[in-house]
This record gives sequence, C-alpha cells and structure tokens, in this order.
Amino acid sequence: MSDRSRTCDEGHAGNGENAVLPGSPGPPRCRIGNPSCCCVTEYRTWDDDCPLCQALREEHVQDEYTQILNSEMSVMIEAVYGLSSLVEQKLKEKQKTRQDIWKREGTFGIFVTKGEDGRRRIVVRDGWTSYHIDDAQSGGVLVRRVQPRVLTRSHTTTTGTPEAVEGPPTSTGVGGNASGAAGRVTAPPPVDTLEACERAARRLREVASHLQHGDVPLAVLQKTLTYAACVLETVCQEETRKLLDEDDELSEVRPDAVPTEVREWLESTFTRQSASLPKRRSEDKPRFRSVANAIRAGIMVDRLYRRVSPSAAVHLQVPPPILDLLKTTDEWCFNVFKLNELSTDQALRYLSFDLLNRYGLVHKFKMSSLFLENFLTQIEAGYKKYGNPYHNNMHAADVTQTVHFMLCRAGVANWLTDLEIFATLFAAIIHDYEHTGTTNNFHVMSRSETALIYNDRSVLENHHISSAFRVMQRDDCNVLANLSREEYREFRSLVIEMVLATDMTSHFQQVKTMKTALGHHDFSLDKPKSLCLILHACDISHPAKEWSLHTRWTGYLMEEFFKQGDKEKQLGLPYSPLCDRNTTMVAESQIGFIDFILSPTMDVCSELIMKIYQQVLHQQQQQRASSASTTGTPSEDSSRSSSVSSVGSQDVPKEPARPWMKYLEVNRLRWQERAAQDAEAKRLAEEQASVTNNGSAEEAAPASTE
Ligand code: AMP
Ligand code: MG
Ligand code: ZN
Repeated sequence: MSDRSRTCDEGHAGNGENAVLPGSPGPPRCRIGNPSCCCVTEYRTWDDDCPLCQALREEHVQDEYTQILNSEMSVMIEAVYGLSSLVEQKLKEKQKTRQDIWKREGTFGIFVTKGEDGRRRIVVRDGWTSYHIDDAQSGGVLVRRVQPRVLTRSHTTTTGTPEAVEGPPTSTGVGGNASGAAGRVTAPPPVDTLEACERAARRLREVASHLQHGDVPLAVLQKTLTYAACVLETVCQEETRKLLDEDDELSEVRPDAVPTEVREWLESTFTRQSASLPKRRSEDKPRFRSVANAIRAGIMVDRLYRRVSPSAAVHLQVPPPILDLLKTTDEWCFNVFKLNELSTDQALRYLSFDLLNRYGLVHKFKMSSLFLENFLTQIEAGYKKYGNPYHNNMHAADVTQTVHFMLCRAGVANWLTDLEIFATLFAAIIHDYEHTGTTNNFHVMSRSETALIYNDRSVLENHHISSAFRVMQRDDCNVLANLSREEYREFRSLVIEMVLATDMTSHFQQVKTMKTALGHHDFSLDKPKSLCLILHACDISHPAKEWSLHTRWTGYLMEEFFKQGDKEKQLGLPYSPLCDRNTTMVAESQIGFIDFILSPTMDVCSELIMKIYQQVLHQQQQQRASSASTTGTPSEDSSRSSSVSSVGSQDVPKEPARPWMKYLEVNRLRWQERAAQDAEAKRLAEEQASVTNNGSAEEAAPASTE
C-alpha cells in the first residue's frame, strides 16, 4: 500500500527519516489518516492521537509487539550504551577483549558495535538469532532480526562484533549453548537428573519465545522437543514408581547416604519391606524357561490325571462326572455351583487339587499329595464354619477358577514364574478363609475379638491369611514344606500382599494407581501390584459372568448382608449399607456396583492384560531371536511359552481372552429392567395400600360421625 517513491501527505519521505516515537519532539506526525503514511507502514511508530493509527493498531494487533519492543528498546538503549562504555572501561583495565567475555558468557550477549555507516548498533544475540538494533536518527529505533542462526563454536571475529555462525544444532541436540561457555559443545545432562529438568524447561521456554518470531530452525525445535519429552517421561516414570512403591519411603535416601546395614534396618523396621526378603524388582523379566517347564509339567500331569493315574488320584478319587466338569475350568462362565453339587459341597478341594496339579506345581514344589489333600480339606471346612450364604467354599472356588482363567486364557501365567503362579492360586484359595459372614466394619463396630487382634485394620483379610498359614503349622497339612527358605519368604510375602489387597477399602487406590501406571509410556509393570489387582478383580467378578450365575451370587450376597443387618438390629447398631432387608434396592445397588466399581476395574484389568501380553510377546521374540542366532533354530522353550490353558496346544493365542465386558453390559441392562419392574410393583403396591386405606377410612368415617 505504501508508495515509497513519494512522500506521504504529511511530507514524510518513507525512508524512516521522519519516523518518530510517540511523544518525541520532532517533525509533525501523521494525523490525517493516510493509510500509506510511512510512519504507519514502515516503522509502526503509532500516534496515539491519530484515529487511523488507532484503527490500524486494532487490525494488526500482532504489530504491537514491534511497537512495544521499540519503545522498550528506546528506554533500554541508553542504559546499554552506558553499560557498554562501563564494560569497555573495565576491559581496558583488565586488558581483556570482548571475545573473552563472549566465550565465558556463552552465546547470549548484548554488544554495541558500529555499523559500516558509522552508526551505533546494538546486537542482541543468543543461540539462534541476532537482533540488530540500529540507532535511527531522531531518537528512533530500528529493530532488525537477522536470519536465524545456530551457534556451534566460538567462530568469533577478532575485531568488532563476534559473528554468529550458522550451522547444525549442537550435539546437545537443542541448539545453542545458552548456559555453557560458547565454543564448548556440551552434552545435555542425563535425562534422569534434576539438571536435565532445568535444562529442558529452559530450552522449551527459549524455543517458545523464539517461536513468537517464527525463527526457530526445525531441527532445533525437533531436538529440543525430543529431549524435553525424554526428560518428562523419565520424571513421570520415576514419580509413578514412587507412587506405586508407597511402602518404600526410604527410596529418597540415597544408597550411599547410609551404610547398607543401617538402610536394611530402616527398611525392616519402618517400612513393610523386609530386610531379608530378596528385593522384587518391577523390571524382573519373565522367566520363560521356568514357565515352559510348568506348562510341560502341566501337560504331563494333566494327561496322567485325566487317565486317573496314581500320581494325581491316589489320594483324591475323582468321580467321572466331576472329572468331566473339571474339563471346563478354562471357561469364563464355569459353573461352580454344579461342581459343588457333584462333589457334595467340596468344590474348592476338587478344583484346587486339579489346578495345582495341572500347573505342575505339586510336582515342582514337591508337595505331598496327601498333605495337599489334608490342607484343602481344612481350608474348605474353614469356609463352612459360619454357614455363610455367600462367603463360603463356593465363593473361594469361584474366585480360584476365575484367577485360573486370568492366568491361562488371559495369558498372565506366561509372565509369571512358577512360584508366582503358585502364590496367586494359593492366595485365591485362602482369600476369605474363615470368613464370618460379616464385614470389617461390623467387626469394628461390634468390637469383635478379631478386630481387637488386628487393631481394626483389614480385620478379616488379616485373619484369612494368618489362620490359613496357621493350618500349615500342622505337619500333615504343610504344602510348603519343601520350599526353600527364599521361596517360602517370597511366596508368603506375595500371598500376604495379594490377600490384604482384597480389602475393599483399597479398591479405588488400586484401580487409580494401576490406571495411572498403565497410562505412562514404557512403564514397567509391577508384578505384585498387578497380581493384587487381578485377584481383587476376580473376587468381585460375578456381575461380569452369565446372568444365571450372577443373579445366584447376588441373591447369596444380599442374604448375607441382610443377616448382618439382622444382627445389627439385635445389637442396637445402625444398619450398614445394603443390610436392611426391608429397604435395600437390590437392582439399583447392582447397577451402581457395575457402574462405579466393577466396570472401571475390569477396564483397567483389560488394559493390564494387554500390556502383559505385549510384554510377553516382545520377550518371546527376543528369546527366539537370540536362540536362533546361537543355535540356528528357534528355541523349543520359548516357542512353547503359550497360554497355560493350552494344556495340549502350544500356540500363542492371538489375543488374550477378555470376555467380561459383554456380560457386564447385558447384566446391567437386565438389572435396569428389574429396577423398572420393582419401581412399578412398588407403585402398584402403594396405590393398592392407599386404596385400602381410603376404603377403610370411608368405612370408619360414618361410624365416627354417628
Ligand atoms: P470379599 O469379601 O473378599 O469377597 O470381597 C468382595 C466384596 O465386594 C464383598 O464382600 C462385597 O462387599 C463386595 N461385592 C462383591 N460383589 C458385589 C456385588 N455384586 N454387589 C455389591 N457388593 C459386592
Ligand atoms: Mg474378602
Ligand atoms: Zn472374596
């Protein structure tokens, strides 16, 4: 729009000669609204009194930046001149040159130089760009951004302004070396250091500020972002690890800060981690060889077992109908009620015996079949002690079978060692042992003996574990007799952790923590925490099974709750939620349980299982590659590391089975229908009651008036 060949209506030449800063004395300003006035188009020296300037200012808001910069610079310029001469003077005294300063201060600097035309010029430069601020005549300021450039070395001229040299990004990967000495190409600090956080943050800010001018070279931008991302990820991982490892409050204590002995004492005394327990590392790799052995043993024992061989059946004679039913234990909707009927109320014993054999654990850990049978008999009896409608041997068998599904069909077993598989199944078997049919809260409120023993903390869960381990004190029930000391410690620690995590008060924390962990890129899974979540999910999984199974469980659970309500009433205690048999809305409670508890849990479980599956596949591929490179053929062990469910088939499943979501949806809909029916029935009953009341009132009324 501006015509540089002529002057504007105000007589400005269009070359900046007449450009002025607002408020400065000088030639007349543009006041008449000529859009091609050089004051407006060339130097953006807005006149606050000029209506066109105002209009243009609104239209080109971004140009305000230049205006602000100019006015700021005009203030700064004198200060810089003053500073510069002061520096010059000091340099002379110390017999140093500007290059010395440049080298020491890094790539950022402000210099005052003289241009070819003899005018003073301020050069502001950093890792990417030089800004040349020319001292225009009449007190005005010209800011020019010289082409983006990246400084790599101290390519400084010996006289005048040190020249920025364009070049590739430094090996720091993030452009200039803003804090280090110019000329030194420093590597960025390792991503897991505090320094890296600071560096990444600073670089990001620098890039952000440069982006405002659009002058950050793409390569620099990319490298800065990549580095910052690495740092962030590392920080996230570290934070998550700390979050998950809540017990390890001593993780902040640097290993070298205290002697090992003191550290171990601190750990054993003030955290839940035992000093003598071999530290479980979340990055422990699955040991395929051992799992493969388990599978092989499982296959072998399974075959023998199915032929009712002496090794498996000598102590537990399994009637053929039970054997047939046990062939369906790999199914998500296995009918545990049927098993209990066929086995005359011994579902837990038959199922557990079968599974421990199929996984080859009886063989692997040299369990005496007789001891195992004794142990299981004791445990099953403990589940029947209080005659609970829900928390009985069937529930234990149901949870154990569901855990087995997770291990075999969802592929989790491929990720575990034999000992971990054993601990997981064992935890499921004993997880509600000697359940009283009342809740933890009831124990606390009624000041039960058990609450006294466990100080109101996870009262039932503590009892389940403690009393189950006590059963094994009897020599003829000790199925752990042949575990090594280390194996016993690890096994016990895992079982304790898993069963304690079935306390519902830890539900939200567990789900949230796992969700957060899974959301993090490249997070290595924590095995104990993963197994805790899986057992917890199995424990509450019946609303994700076939409707016929789920409603039966719900009926039993509600009956147990109501029985507790009856006791509460007797004791003069307030009803616990869902325990008043006269008011509890069963359908609504199930919808709530599905929506807020089970669905989120199973969602996270699905994610976890996929992550485990990917990790196992990756591990397997690596193993294959390494064994192929050493032997020329893929290893037999690794190619076998398939789902334990295979018991006979050795293919790696394409995808882990996750059938629960469809049942959850169907069951939810059915509860909704029920809720609507219940509401309608209630409405009709109330209507009926009011009709009856009115009728009797009408009958009574004449009598009363008579
Ligand atoms: P556990 O007592 O170890 O079996 O832990 C599971 C707990 O989850 C039960 O005691 C119930 O309090 C609760 N729960 C499980 N299934 C349901 C359900 N369908 N509706 C309501 N609460 C349930
Ligand atoms: Mg429990
Ligand atoms: Zn349970």
